[in-house]
Amino acid sequence: MGISLDTLTAAQIAAGVAAGKFTATEVARAALSAIETREADVQAFLQVTPELALEAAARIDVARAAGESLPPLAGVPLAIKDNMNLAGTRTTCASRVLENYESPYTATCVRRMLDAGCLPVGKANMDEFAFGSSTESSAFHRTNNPWDLERVPGGSSGGSAAAVAAGMTALALGSDTGGSIRQPAALCGVVGMKPTYGVVSRYGVVAFGSSLDQVGPFGRTVEDVALALDALTAGGRDPFDGTSQEAEGGFAAHIDDDIAGLRVGVIPAFMEAEGLAPEVKAAVEGALRTLEAQGAKLVEVDLPHLDAAIAAYYVIGPAEAFSNLARFDGVRYGYQEAGCTNLAEQSSKSRAHGFGAEAKRRQMLGAYLLSSGVYDKYYYAAQKARSLITEDYARAYEQVDVILMPASPTTAFKFGELSDPTQMYLSDMFTISINIAGNGGITVPCGVGADSGLPVAVQLVGRAFDDRRLLTFARAVERGHAQAAGVPGCVVAPDFAGKGGELA
Ligand code: GLN
Repeated sequence: MGISLDTLTAAQIAAGVAAGKFTATEVARAALSAIETREADVQAFLQVTPELALEAAARIDVARAAGESLPPLAGVPLAIKDNMNLAGTRTTCASRVLENYESPYTATCVRRMLDAGCLPVGKANMDEFAFGSSTESSAFHRTNNPWDLERVPGGSSGGSAAAVAAGMTALALGSDTGGSIRQPAALCGVVGMKPTYGVVSRYGVVAFGSSLDQVGPFGRTVEDVALALDALTAGGRDPFDGTSQEAEGGFAAHIDDDIAGLRVGVIPAFMEAEGLAPEVKAAVEGALRTLEAQGAKLVEVDLPHLDAAIAAYYVIGPAEAFSNLARFDGVRYGYQEAGCTNLAEQSSKSRAHGFGAEAKRRQMLGAYLLSSGVYDKYYYAAQKARSLITEDYARAYEQVDVILMPASPTTAFKFGELSDPTQMYLSDMFTISINIAGNGGITVPCGVGADSGLPVAVQLVGRAFDDRRLLTFARAVERGHAQAAGVPGCVVAPDFAGKGGELA
């Protein structure tokens, strides 16, 4: 019988492999065949790694034949954002600077997914060094939204989201500094989660803003994302990342817990925000009704300092990026300009010719913001705003158990549509404050919008380190939506469903 990732969730794949319904090798071949037929349209990958996927699959099939018990995600295809090291692949961050950079080791987050039995099918495209919301700043090529190839998949983890939406993989890893998992998930109609800061190790992930960066999974169902988070946190805190913390665990086991009597917060100002598309607002209102129908109570919450979030982020983010990207000095890593006669020339020419426009803009901004005289005015003020925003969230969670809000203000936009950088920065107006405060956030797709016909989504934001309950709420939204719309929770972009990817 033919198997296709279009109709199988990660949970079903792992169960099928464990039960001997199909082999991990058959799953790997189905994923690689889907990539072969669909990748020309989508261009989600910077590198496809068939040998690594087939090798991992063969190990699982041998283990099963020997009667060994299989790890929880055995045979599940995984795409990995290209800012994460995986030994045997290049880690380019979609930048000329790291075009030929070979991963010296495997990042903890990737290692843990592989230990759980995932098959690494490739390294996914992204905005250069994760600066952006559309994947257009990749130095190599654009990635097309599987729902409409003339539109962006979002970013910066656009390749990861698109690969899942097009059924080329069941799971993907992304990183989220200001929305880079949640916004592309929204635009591609998949589930994407940024756990609470510290829940997933950042060791081996190329740093952007170290106090904001968090790794998280993409999947087509909440259950798949919960299983991935179980895998990412298995083994406890990572001693190689000083900010890594012990997670509560049991994420997948609790997704169907009852939400009756729990409280859902709504931020009225967000519902009236300028630039919020009516169809996205309608999705949030629909999700509120769904949660209410399942017994949750709706409560209005006031977070008075959220207005400052974007401004604070565009001070803290570039300042940290400037410090982190200083290591790409044209000497130790990556691209080196030829023919230079001294180190200063080599460094400045390598950086000038290696980095793209947005990466340069961020670093120049960061250098300016950290310079003497300017530092007090902006960086210090941004840190104060950060404290106030964090306190706002903490206070809100005295009244509620989760907050529901939009994920992205609009559905997927066209290439080139947001050519002014400050317009692009507004794509993350609903996601950024959550990185500032550190809480967990998750995007849940809610079908297609009445106006655009493109995926619309909502975002749930949890209390810090309450990621298990966050997933329970996400599952409740998904369940309610699936019942109302009569669709199962595993949707592949319509142009791709059934187009290749089958294994006869
Ligand atoms: N779009 C935001 C930015 O450009 C967030 C990116 C991210 O989360 N990596 O900084």
